[in-house]
Amino acid sequence: MKYHVYYAKSPDYETGTLRTALEKVFQDQLQNAGGVSGKRIMLKPNLLAWRRKEDIACVHPAVIVETAKLFLDAGASKVAILENPAVQTAPSILHAMGIDEELKKLQVSSANFTDYRRLPVPEQVRFHNLELAAEHLGFDAVVNIAKAKTHAMMTLTLCVKNLFGFVKGSERMGWHLAVGRNFSEFADMLLDLYLTLHPQFNLLDAVVCMEGNGPGSGTPAFRGFLAGSPDALALDASAAERLGVPDLLLLRNAAERGLLPEYENHGEIPDLLPLKRPDPPGILAEWGVTLPPFLKNVMRDFVVSKPKLDADLCVGCGLCVRMCPPHSLKLVNGKPVFDLPNCIRCYCCQEHCPKGAIRPCKTVSMKIAESLEDAIRSLFGTHADQPPKKNGGTV
Ligand code: SF4
Ligand code: SF4
Repeated sequence: MKYHVYYAKSPDYETGTLRTALEKVFQDQLQNAGGVSGKRIMLKPNLLAWRRKEDIACVHPAVIVETAKLFLDAGASKVAILENPAVQTAPSILHAMGIDEELKKLQVSSANFTDYRRLPVPEQVRFHNLELAAEHLGFDAVVNIAKAKTHAMMTLTLCVKNLFGFVKGSERMGWHLAVGRNFSEFADMLLDLYLTLHPQFNLLDAVVCMEGNGPGSGTPAFRGFLAGSPDALALDASAAERLGVPDLLLLRNAAERGLLPEYENHGEIPDLLPLKRPDPPGILAEWGVTLPPFLKNVMRDFVVSKPKLDADLCVGCGLCVRMCPPHSLKLVNGKPVFDLPNCIRCYCCQEHCPKGAIRPCKTVSMKIAESLEDAIRSLFGTHADQPPKKNGGTV
């Protein structure tokens, strides 16, 4: 199948020009989806942090408002915004952006993700222990709205990377640390999110991008376009080329795994204009926190769950050993023994054990972090205004 990637130029974030550009990039997607009349739509914008006016770490506020309006005008019965920002809450970021009142008038609700579960995953995934936000199951479609930014680990963050926001906040640092020494593993985990969540609508805000020290502290880089596609990976492949980073690790891994879709560009295709890349990845962690590698490794043992064996259930068949990608398991006296420093926490062993003898075991510090996260969320009232749920979903 060949996906269409639609481009539209937008010289700024003024309402009129933006709306015209959004209509161009969504026209094809809406037609392919059979319209959204009467449907419930969830917007998942990148709301990393809002620390100053016009903070380019987030999707621009006008893009969020105009996208909500566009879907309401197209007949959606409900539009809600859900996200789990790293530090602030989704409603508090929308308030700081100054768009909460406008969204309220439009009856667009906002909330943090709170309902985390292990969702059914397709066969091709490599990581089997992802606890993901499940609110999207109560909607008919998701609109994945990313900001084009450079990223210390992944070089660029576009639509697929934006799905990392579905991972439970208290586990995100853990995932960075679990696979942070091997960026290829991190890219594979992002591809697993893409395979599992597969949002129907995807939009990239590349009017003002971030270049250099992204994804939180880079500098603005005007590129003046929006891009959209029904497939997040197709959009990323196309946009990465326009932004001068066609050699993304994410795309290379996708190609190796046979996931890279075919696509063709349509609309007002922007000139190829490379973004200034981030400093070479090394000790820069997500959110701009600088950690020496030894500290990363120590922290990893505190914030990443570990596979644990129930020796009574294990029958010593050795399947887990054969399924472990980095060979971090070996049979000793008929029972698997974990080489935890080399374990990437993919949980293929747990997935394949026929006796249910391997389980992820949360560390004490993870449990404390979860309790703290819940306490902070309830303190700031982010459980309010949750969208209605229904069983099953189409996402
Ligand atoms: S797959 Fe399960 S039962 Fe077989 S050796 Fe591993 S832990 Fe034991
Ligand atoms: S032991 Fe191997 S299969 Fe199990 S979680 Fe670790 S790396 Fe994955």
